[in-house]
Amino acid sequence: MQIIIFGPPGVGKGTQAKIISHELGIKHISTGDILREAFRAKSEIGLKAKEIMDRGELVPDEIMGKLVEEAINRPDSSHGFILDGFPRTLNQAKILEPILERTDFENFIFIQLSADDEIIVNRLSNRRVCTFCKSIVNLNLLDDITTCPNCGSKSSFEKRDDDDEKVIRNRLKVYRETTLPVLEYYRNRVKIISVDGIQPIHEITKNILSRLKTEHV
Ligand code: AMP
Repeated sequence: MQIIIFGPPGVGKGTQAKIISHELGIKHISTGDILREAFRAKSEIGLKAKEIMDRGELVPDEIMGKLVEEAINRPDSSHGFILDGFPRTLNQAKILEPILERTDFENFIFIQLSADDEIIVNRLSNRRVCTFCKSIVNLNLLDDITTCPNCGSKSSFEKRDDDDEKVIRNRLKVYRETTLPVLEYYRNRVKIISVDGIQPIHEITKNILSRLKTEHV
């Protein structure tokens, strides 16, 4: 099964993609994670991408297309994958087409998550990443901000550089202007599962999994 999970920054794509990939036994391919990993490894692409990411802009399509093709062609994607953060432009959707055609999968599913801008700004401003297990937490939802609820470690939480309010608002603008047309591109081509992204995490997961079961699998 191949899934695209789509929506504005901070709507919960990464959180849901992680859970769904685990539930369905498919690979989670997050282009944001790939770029952050490339930066940590100090690769040329990673260093170049970091500057762009810190402004809330998009990394060039050719670079992203290559990174995604590599990830899809890896053996651990052979049972299926969920793409999180790609495609983000119409051109990327077109680059993806022949890559998907070369895979053996018949089911192509598009999940759209949505939420209002102000909810997103609030969520992302309070988003932190556990330095130990890398899980995403929201400071507003933590009873104890010194302990990671996922791995239990006395974790220090990190704030992503692009989770700064000014950058968040630019990311939302880029989403509206450049990424939203991707939804229209797929509307006439595939069946879209639309889910409200402001419900609690487990409700969103339940909703997605039941719709995948009844409508697609
Ligand atoms: P994310 O972790 O998905 O929020 O992505 C963080 C940042 O990485 C984005 O704001 C972009 O700067 C960059 N990025 C991730 N995926 C893409 C993509 N498909 N195309 C261009 N830039 C991307």
